[in-house]
Amino acid sequence: MNAPVPHVEWLMSAYDATWHAFPTAQISDQTRAFYQALCDHSVPVRHVERTLPRVFCPICLVLYGTHIPDDQRWRVGGDSPIAAPMPAEEPSTNGGTP
Ligand SMILES: [Zn+2]
Repeated sequence: MNAPVPHVEWLMSAYDATWHAFPTAQISDQTRAFYQALCDHSVPVRHVERTLPRVFCPICLVLYGTHIPDDQRWRVGGDSPIAAPMPAEEPSTNGGTP
């Protein structure tokens, strides 16, 4: 049921003052000298800033979004799912055509 959603962290690149989606596997890897975002933007570790995102990289957003099922889309670092009202389903059992 759970689709594999890439674990990313949105970190600001000092190069373009934009928040990119970096795989957490890279971030937790202490040996890395640079991170590579989903959009291929790469930035040295020391030029990454961990602050609240304000400007998201549109390419990262799209690439990240394509991995996420619709009901989780655009959730960024939140734990509470967005409660979308379920449309009432019409019973499809039509007793034949008139
Ligand atoms: Zn990006």
